[in-house]
Amino acid sequence: MIKSTQHTFRKKWGQNFLADTNLLRKIVRTINPQNGDSILEIGPGEGALTERILPLVDHMAAIEIDPKLIKYLQTRDDLKDCHFIHKDVLWQELEELPIPTPVRVIGNIPYNITSPILFWLIEQKEHWSEAFFMIQKEVAERLTSVEGTKSYGRLTVMIGAFLDVEICFTIPPDVFIPKPKVKSAIVRLIKKKNSLVEENEFDHFEKIVRAAFSRRRKMLRNTLECFGFTDTIKEKIDFSRRPETLTIEEFISLSKDKK
Ligand code: SAM
Repeated sequence: MIKSTQHTFRKKWGQNFLADTNLLRKIVRTINPQNGDSILEIGPGEGALTERILPLVDHMAAIEIDPKLIKYLQTRDDLKDCHFIHKDVLWQELEELPIPTPVRVIGNIPYNITSPILFWLIEQKEHWSEAFFMIQKEVAERLTSVEGTKSYGRLTVMIGAFLDVEICFTIPPDVFIPKPKVKSAIVRLIKKKNSLVEENEFDHFEKIVRAAFSRRRKMLRNTLECFGFTDTIKEKIDFSRRPETLTIEEFISLSKDKK
């Protein structure tokens, strides 16, 4: 393995590598890779997780944006059965992967593109079954928070309409090289059985949620005025409420209100 100290860490690609054997084992136990699995890893870095998961599964691919890391990974004899793809993950269509789908997606993902990666997953939801990501703890809390709390917001509603998120465990900064400023958490993501927002309703739903949370302290009647909601929905949802008090289901019913 390249000694992490020899690698020039690129902050713009969120490069904080895992350097704790016990933690890596715990992550692998949590992912629980199985014989028949087809695993896609986002951001393999120097392969700390890849080398532990590859021997346990039938198919594995890993997408890495850094050309130097790809070059290194491709020279490793113990990783020759993994398909390495040099690409920005956000440009990858899951159905075009060189491994069978649906895949289980894993990764200690670059924290600066956590939301785009979550929306990328939602857009391709037929092609994956389950995901385990390491993300910033504060973002994990936003994803799992309930209405009425401080961390409940636009991201909670937008992601919660499609995915169920569970925090598996949290991780301190000192297990990474270089050490990040923030705490991390491993989350498990699965698709909601019946996602209530249809594909053609997504943009409208997104606009309503964005407008409602654009001014968190304001009542809905001020922020959502321009949408021209019907009296029927106004009888069901009190527009003097603030956005953080609405459940995800209530936001969905706003987006389905027909004039
Ligand atoms: N998996 C390794 C580990 O745990 O030690 C590295 C994790 S590091 C937090 C994130 C990795 O994602 C880096 O290797 C980085 O180069 C890669 N990366 C960043 N942006 C990416 C993108 N848009 N597409 C694919 N890989 C990306």
